[in-house]
Amino acid sequence: APPADSVLHEALHATFGFNAFRGVQEQVVRRIMADRSTLAVMPTGAGKSLTYQLPAVLREGTCVVISPLIALMHDQLRSAEANGIRAAALTSADLDREQTIERFRAGALDLLYVAPERASQPHFRELLRRAPLTLFAIDEAHCVSEWGHDFRPDYRLLRPLFDEFPAVPRLALTATADAHTRADILAQLGIPEEGLIVAGFDRPNIRYRIQPRDQPVRQLTRLLGENPGPGIVYAQTRSQVERLAEALAGTGRPVLAYHAGLPPEVRAANQAAFVASEDMVMVATIAFGMGIDKPDVRFVAHAGLPKSIEAYYQETGRAGRDGDPSVAVMLWGADDFARARQRLGEVEPQRQAGERQRLDALASLVETAGCRRAILLRHFGEDPPQGCGNCDNCLEAPGVVDATETARKLLSAIYRTGQSYGLGHIEKVLTGANDARVLERGHDQLSVFGIVTGEEAQLLRPLARALQARGALLATEHGGLMLGGDARAILRGDDAVLVVVPPRREKTRRGRDAS
Ligand code: ADP
Ligand code: ZN
Repeated sequence: APPADSVLHEALHATFGFNAFRGVQEQVVRRIMADRSTLAVMPTGAGKSLTYQLPAVLREGTCVVISPLIALMHDQLRSAEANGIRAAALTSADLDREQTIERFRAGALDLLYVAPERASQPHFRELLRRAPLTLFAIDEAHCVSEWGHDFRPDYRLLRPLFDEFPAVPRLALTATADAHTRADILAQLGIPEEGLIVAGFDRPNIRYRIQPRDQPVRQLTRLLGENPGPGIVYAQTRSQVERLAEALAGTGRPVLAYHAGLPPEVRAANQAAFVASEDMVMVATIAFGMGIDKPDVRFVAHAGLPKSIEAYYQETGRAGRDGDPSVAVMLWGADDFARARQRLGEVEPQRQAGERQRLDALASLVETAGCRRAILLRHFGEDPPQGCGNCDNCLEAPGVVDATETARKLLSAIYRTGQSYGLGHIEKVLTGANDARVLERGHDQLSVFGIVTGEEAQLLRPLARALQARGALLATEHGGLMLGGDARAILRGDDAVLVVVPPRREKTRRGRDAS
């Protein structure tokens, strides 16, 4: 029979010292206590570990936890043991393996952490047959899916193992899974569809703002001016981190840098200083942030395109853990998409479709004239209202221009000039500029020469950005532009192209301080 409410709550308090479950924790724990396999999708920090640790304590036998990283296992092991849970790990780094196996077989362990490579070996299977099992927990379960961003082939060997123990329920856990990946996890791990539990992903106190990167230093300086509290600025490379940190130090705010190229003691010191500070700006690569517990981060800025919507959600999620108003600002450029699309070509064939979809999802987030939050939440399978009232587009509706005609002109000019010139040259051709290089190449003789008029010329840059975001334009190796996937449909007139024109808050000079 399922345990009474009081039993669960008493155990929650006795083991973890918590007075209440958070979010979907209780729902997940109840399913496991009723032997029903479950996939729990919960954002980072939502408290996933408790959902298998509590059943492990309450039930006879051991919960075997599959986890992809030794460091992760040891973190969890330490915190479980600190709560008085009998736990051990079986990894090459653990020298007490014999003893652990004995404890396991004697039923003296609540939790046994193991990596998928070891779990799928025949001798581990033998071991499981001779030990009392109560649950399989699969941490970072998106690793089982090729659609996920972190595919680990060894996760595929888990299902046959679990199938040998049909009476033992499975609990798969992940923070990052779009609808496609989720369906895949259910199928790959043999969990019924009704076993899917998704926690609420909304972070209502975070205000999302996404803008083209124009003059990053000036844009970020303004952000710092508006937000005196602690904040993180994510840059993409070590040298970008160094440069931005230096430039932002000019604002008078305390600024530190963090990236993998710094000596460990400097990283540790900078991190500690940030955690203690009430006004510091940390300029960092995404190496910074994991495992940092600072509830009062007031802003998270991305100086370039994040890797995926999941990554964006996770990184921006470090803002405002205390529930107070916070902002997430992303500055993106067409060149970010150009690089990302180029990298697509280098990905193994079986992962390309997933990577492309991830990039398209990001493109629709940055290019939308609608609610940012709605796109994020829909991505995580929720059904949010049309508008949130707390993102840039909800607060001030951007203009939307039908640029289909201009797009066709732009694409033909690129095609007719041989798909090797950059936007600057193409702009000159389209606007009929009297330019030496244009004349020298004979581009003034083309039918597209001078076919774009004043007003329309203003659209070329945002348009090129939008076309690159959606992959209709690609960058060549030498910085030129060429036609990509859906350029053809646009040229044929089958696809419309809408361009979002941000509200004009101020006159912007054309940026020179490119990232
Ligand atoms: P996740 O793995 O989902 O990122 P963790 O399991 O590491 O999250 O938990 C995040 C933090 O929340 C931990 O410090 C944990 O102790 C705390 N926590 C989890 N559940 C609760 C709860 N019901 N009440 C209070 N704190 C909780
Ligand atoms: Zn909104």
